[in-house]
Amino acid sequence: MRTSEIIQKAEELKLENNLATRQNNVNRLLSNFNNSLFPKENLKQYLSLDNYVRKGTKDTFTYWVEVGTKEVADIRGAPGGSAMFHIWSNEQKYNKGIFFIKENRFNKEIRRTEALKIFTNVKKRIIDLINFASIDRLDLIDEMDMFWKIYRMKIAYLYYPEKFTSIMKEDDIKQACNIFGVNHKDKYPVYSNSILIKEIRKIAYFKNWTSYMIGSLFYGKLKAIKAPGKFILDSAIVEKKNVVSEDEADIEEQEELVDIIKETETKEQIIEELTNLKSNDPKEITVHGKTYKRNNKVIAQLKILRNFKCQICNGNILKSNGTFYVEAAHIKSKSQKGPETPDNILILCPNHHKEFDYGKKNILAHSIEFIEFELNDKLHKIDLNLRV
Ligand SMILES: [Zn+2]
Repeated sequence: MRTSEIIQKAEELKLENNLATRQNNVNRLLSNFNNSLFPKENLKQYLSLDNYVRKGTKDTFTYWVEVGTKEVADIRGAPGGSAMFHIWSNEQKYNKGIFFIKENRFNKEIRRTEALKIFTNVKKRIIDLINFASIDRLDLIDEMDMFWKIYRMKIAYLYYPEKFTSIMKEDDIKQACNIFGVNHKDKYPVYSNSILIKEIRKIAYFKNWTSYMIGSLFYGKLKAIKAPGKFILDSAIVEKKNVVSEDEADIEEQEELVDIIKETETKEQIIEELTNLKSNDPKEITVHGKTYKRNNKVIAQLKILRNFKCQICNGNILKSNGTFYVEAAHIKSKSQKGPETPDNILILCPNHHKEFDYGKKNILAHSIEFIEFELNDKLHKIDLNLRV
């Protein structure tokens, strides 16, 4: 985008929004967090398991970072949910002395003694993080192995708001860098965010813009603008494929939903929900304040029930974050008006997904219970029961 266009958007923002009032509110929240609630100088002494995890009260560190300061920068609905804090609890569990950590992608309940041991390290890493921010070694924050990125970003931002824009999500930071023509370093959102604000402030017009104003400009005026699309030669479009593959946005949604579902639903609840699914249920659902396609939730639930394993070969792909990648294939494709119900969806590894879509296929029998088919002359019978 040209700088003149961005400035025009910035002028529009100033006219439409009561930026000054919102900025005052943000300043008040930041000052409250930094000076009264959790001053960085006091953390070493003061931060404890009991004022770190959520327990239904509004005086804990994770409450303030995620919810209490949401007007400063919003990280709610982040993939991973509470797992981003590394150790967490809730009112009910806390009162029973139970805490959670993540182990092999599943939430694991632990008792207080173990939680206290783990928290020693959590506290150390929070203090490290703030130190890295203070000495401008933001790359080290990106390289930390504890907490989710967006949570690290928010902590760094709360303690050093002048060093970053209020854009917290990795993808959004990347997009903002693109819009402003700033070099973005992949997998280094915290570092990239600091470069972003420095470069923006070099533009005379934005010299005095606060982190919050820049974030508001991005979310209010710039994010919606699409980057120039890819040009496709007409001749390159040979034929419209009958097969619709999942696009990346769907996969991203499914992964977010997997994390949320694992935290909020038991396998029994998933089975019950899928069993009661009706084809005329609303196409969209709201989870943690964010709208998702229902289909993506159904697929996320199925991936969990099928243990992230291909229903043909048991295979999957191990991702660098320790989770497993599988895909969802529609037995009767969407273009053939196949329903988005569990008996029409197979969880497959990428190879078998493509073979299923493109290979020579002959379906011999298909019910809610099972499907039997020949695929490239090999016979397969797959159990479609939700309780396997
Ligand atoms: Zn497979």
